[in-house]
Order: sequence, then C-alpha cells, then structure tokens
Amino acid sequence: MFLWKAINGALPTGAVLQARTFDVDPTCCRCNVFESLEHLLFKCPFALKIWELAPFATPFLTGNIHQIKVGIMPGNKQVCLPPVGLSQTPLFPWLCWNIWLAKNEKIFNARMFSPGEIVRKAIQDAKEWQLAHDFGSPPPKSSSPVVVGPLASPLQADERLLRTDAAWCRDLKAAGLGWILITQIPEESVCRSAVTLNVSSPLMAECLAIRAAITMALDLNLSQDIQLMASSFSSFSCCFIPRSCNAEADSLAKQVLSLYAANFD
Ligand SMILES: [Zn+2]
Repeated sequence: MFLWKAINGALPTGAVLQARTFDVDPTCCRCNVFESLEHLLFKCPFALKIWELAPFATPFLTGNIHQIKVGIMPGNKQVCLPPVGLSQTPLFPWLCWNIWLAKNEKIFNARMFSPGEIVRKAIQDAKEWQLAHDFGSPPPKSSSPVVVGPLASPLQADERLLRTDAAWCRDLKAAGLGWILITQIPEESVCRSAVTLNVSSPLMAECLAIRAAITMALDLNLSQDIQLMASSFSSFSCCFIPRSCNAEADSLAKQVLSLYAANFD
C-alpha cells in the first residue's frame, strides 16, 4: 500500500503538500533540501547511510533513481546476505517504509532513530511479513514422498492415519503445530505445520494440532470441537504413540515454532 501510494504521488512529502498549496515548509527535515519523495528515499544523506547499511549482497546504488518507479524494480531484486534470513521477502519496501515512518516520528513526535536502528526495524518487519505468509503453507514440493515411521498395521485403501504433535513456548505463549496425513500411497501423504499464538498450555497446543489435522482431513473431503468434527468421519479412533514413533510431526512442530521464536531473539 505504501509503495502504491508512493508511485501515485499520494504521500504527503513537502513537494506534494506545497503543490496542493498547503502552507508548510517543503524542505527535508534532515538536510533542508526540497523534499521530493525521491530525495527522502534515495538522495538525502540520511537515506544514503541506510542504503549503505542494508545487508544486500551487492550495494544498492540510488544515484540514478530520479523517480520512485525507477527504484522499485531494482530495489525489490536486491538479495539479502544469507544470515539475515530473508530468502522469500524483499527488504527494499520495508526500508522505504521505515524511512518514511522515521521522518514522521522526527517531525510529529521529536523521536530520532539512527540509520542502524531503521535498518534493524526494517529487517524485523520483513521477517514478520515473511513468517506470516508462511503460516500453514505446505513445505516445498519435492518428488520424494513423505517419509513416516513404521505403522502399527498396514493401512487399507480407504483408511487415513493422522499423526500430530505440538511444541510450546512458555515465554511467547506460542505453539508450533505439526501434522501428517498418511495414506496407503506414500505420494498422497501430506505434511503441514503452523504457528498459533495465545496458547496457554502444552495440552492446549496438542489439542490445536489435533484440530488442525482433522480440519485439513475434512477440507480434503476424506469423508469446531474435536468431538463434533470426529463425528463427520465414518469411523474415528485416537491413540497415543511415543514421540520416538512420531518423529516427523514432532520435528514439523518444533521447526515452525523455532522459526517463529527466532524473530524475538
Ligand atoms: Zn534530506
């Protein structure tokens, strides 16, 4: 939304406000140069320090960017260095957004942020965005089927086995949920994971994992209360299996929770 407004000249920079005959000082609050959006984001010495600090694999050169439109394409193509952990989300929009927020904080709240603080905040925002868009998404497709531990007895063609597990973080009150739907044909087995917030106990986390698994099974047309959902199946049974026999669901739950918790390190 921010970039869309930027492209359409809808952000209230000094230049835009002056053009609309507002009685404001149209100069940059940091360097007193006429404040166009391109100045604010790409030319201002303060912004240049931010682009210098950005953890891009190659430097992002803003000298030729005289229009926001010209900057967006190369900006979004900038790749972050691997330790940053932003493999699926461009950092560029978040840097632009945080430069804008920092300007507003300075003008309206007299709060100053250093270029380093702005870069760190942009990385944090981008990671939250990336993580939020990973929620419940299937893992990358691979040609190899889901590998599961030994089954107590072979599955019949119309039988489905759900294995679930949960990992719980007391500090964040967050749960990682992992669930696997196993069918007679390994290629048709499915594994999923998700993070859920505001989870009060490990027991609640386990219940949420079971609910997520059953919901997926129902969504897949294989036949909000667990008992109610269970009644939708022609037959349904639950049993406890030790973690050693449930390594795949256990690992999915722990992986997704640690990915979420890494955001708060
Ligand atoms: Zn400036």
